[in-house]
Amino acid sequence: MRIILISTPIGFLGSGKGGGVELTLNSLVSGLLSLGHSVEVIAPRNSKLYEGNEKAKLHFVEGENQISWQHQNYNSPITMPDNSVLAGMLEKALDISKEADVLLNMSYDWLPIWMTLNVDKPIAHIISMGSESLVISNLISKVYAKHPANFAFHSKIQADDYKFIKKPIIIGNGFKLDNYTFQDSVNGPLAWVGRVAPEKGLEDAVYIANKLGEKLNVWGVMEDEAYASKIEQSFPQGTIDWMGFLSTNELQKELGKCRVLLNTPKWNEAYGNVIVEALACGVPVAAYKRGGPSEIIQHGLTGYLADPDDKKNLLSYVEIIEKIKRKNCREWVEKNASADIFANKVVNWLNKVINEYK
Ligand code: UDP
Repeated sequence: MRIILISTPIGFLGSGKGGGVELTLNSLVSGLLSLGHSVEVIAPRNSKLYEGNEKAKLHFVEGENQISWQHQNYNSPITMPDNSVLAGMLEKALDISKEADVLLNMSYDWLPIWMTLNVDKPIAHIISMGSESLVISNLISKVYAKHPANFAFHSKIQADDYKFIKKPIIIGNGFKLDNYTFQDSVNGPLAWVGRVAPEKGLEDAVYIANKLGEKLNVWGVMEDEAYASKIEQSFPQGTIDWMGFLSTNELQKELGKCRVLLNTPKWNEAYGNVIVEALACGVPVAAYKRGGPSEIIQHGLTGYLADPDDKKNLLSYVEIIEKIKRKNCREWVEKNASADIFANKVVNWLNKVINEYK
């Protein structure tokens, strides 16, 4: 299959601004290449693909980023900056689409979804968020009525946000397991990984560290500094250890030393890459039973699921985290979320999409 992937218009690949989509795209490219498919990627200038993905041709597009939807109001209209990188990526995609079987869009935005109704080439969409915009949800509903096969979701609970979708196509997510080393560090520190932004609920994880009289190691892009300093001021100085944004390789080395990952989403997390990355290193996860984490974590086997927003309940699970066997965590990822398993699901789905156009 000849596939053209359209990256996120929020930031270049490697910036961290694109959140989980950056890693998902890279895992998918490596899975598709290893299955023998031809892959081209269209991404903002400065983007880098992971080592091993060199066989995928990378096309750079210059332009202004979109504003991420989780930081706009649900009812906001669509905005396009002058010299939009999203429009540029789509132009490029159409320009090189002649030989391709399918365009695979990984941006959560209006324009590529709208184009599905207006170009002959199949455009498939991996929807990476729950319903974060009325205009986009309404557009998905309209396009879905004509092309129901063209949309895939990471988790059932994410797809539930789109009430009009009766039988969602669920593809999960995948991770290149060679990139994660198992570590049996049962006495390590507490970890939290994510974009530092309100929808990620960092404050609840800091609460737990404080109650235990420990530090919380925090890795991720500092997206909202006002939010971060508000949390810092609400707890004793030094409770948070800001570790910055690391490459996957550096992150997994540090994460693997931790005894638990705390995951505290305040929104309907579509999937939660960081959970599976932790599990791949052997780190059990204590999370709120909300969004993707509630489907990924096997309660009592690979971690614990606490009642949403119930910090005390979450704390009680962190206190018994040593009951989880770290080997189970790694094993779950191997059996359920490798890059190859993910790429196979995506290929099966894309075949359906392409067949609908024949
Ligand atoms: N991440 C990273 N380095 C860091 C912290 C996070 O590369 O220091 C990446 C992590 O690998 C994951 C992404 O940031 O792929 C966060 O994705 P997730 O699905 O958890 O949440 P999102 O940001 O998409 O809401």
